[in-house]
Amino acid sequence: MQVCHSIAEIKAEINRHFLTQSIGFVPTMGALHDGHLSLIQSAKQENGLTVCSIFVNPTQFNNAEDLLKYPRTVEKDLEMLSQAGCDIVFLPSEGEMYPAPLSLSIHFGHLETILEGAHRIGHFKGVGVVVAKLLNIVKPTHTYFGQKDLQQFLIIKQLVSQLNFETKLRCCPIVREKDGLAMSSRNIRLSEKERQIAPKIYEALLLAYAKIKSGESLKNAQNAAITLLNDFGVFEVEYLEIVNADDLSPANTTNLAICTAVTLGSIRLIDNILINL
Ligand code: AMP
Repeated sequence: MQVCHSIAEIKAEINRHFLTQSIGFVPTMGALHDGHLSLIQSAKQENGLTVCSIFVNPTQFNNAEDLLKYPRTVEKDLEMLSQAGCDIVFLPSEGEMYPAPLSLSIHFGHLETILEGAHRIGHFKGVGVVVAKLLNIVKPTHTYFGQKDLQQFLIIKQLVSQLNFETKLRCCPIVREKDGLAMSSRNIRLSEKERQIAPKIYEALLLAYAKIKSGESLKNAQNAAITLLNDFGVFEVEYLEIVNADDLSPANTTNLAICTAVTLGSIRLIDNILINL
C-alpha cells in the first residue's frame, strides 16, 4: 500500500494506473472502523484500484473544540487499510489542502439549511469544497459514501451532478455494532455509561419505523421516538424528523428517511433509517 502525503505524489501514483484501471475512492476523516472498511470493500469489488483519503477537514467543523477533540488514530488506520487491501492512501496536511485561505464558497440551497445544515452552520460548505478538491485530485471513476451521513451524500450528489464531476457515486448501508449503535469515529469518545445507553438512538428510530409501518401518523411516530429518548434524561435530541429520502423535504412520498441527531454527554451522534411505505 502506497501512502502519499502530497498532491503531486498521489497524482503521479494514480497516473501510473489510470489508463488501465477504474479507481474506487473512499474519502474519510480517519479513526477508521468497520463502517469505513465496508466502503473500502465495495470499492475493491468494483474497481481495479482502491484509494482512501484521511483528512480531518477543518473547514467543515463549526465548533473549534469538536475539531480539536476529533479522534486521530493514523497508525492504526493505515494498518487497517493495508489489511483491507487498499492500494493508495492520501494523507495530506492542512497546508497541502489549503495553502491559502479559501476565497470561494459553494451554496447547496435548501438542502444545506435543514437538519444537519441547520445545526452545523457552514458544515456542508466545508464538506462540498473539500470533496470537490479531493475529486479533482484523485479523479476517481467511482466514489463511495455511507448512508450514515445521508444528507452529506445528497449534498455530494448535487455537487457531482451540477459541477459535472465524472465519478459514479455509491451510497453504502450503515454498519452497526451488535447492539444497533451506528458505528462512528466519535463512539470512542463515549464514556462506558454513555456507550451502554447509546443504542437507544437506533431503538428510537426502529420504534418510529414500526409505528409508521403499522399505519400510525408520522407525527405520532416522531413523538414516540423523541419521548423514548427524552425519558432517559441523558439525550438531548437536536432533531428527529421524518422526511422524503431523496431530498429530505417534508414527508409526502412513500420513500422516507427517519433522521436524528442527539447529544449524549458532550458527544453528538447522528443516525437514520430508510422506510418504504
Ligand atoms: P467520516 O470519516 O466520518 O467522514 O466518514 C467517511 C465515510 O464513511 C462517510 O461517507 C461516512 O458516511 C461513512 N461512514 C461512517 N460511518 C459509517 C457506518 N457506520 N456505516 C457505513 N458508512 C459509514
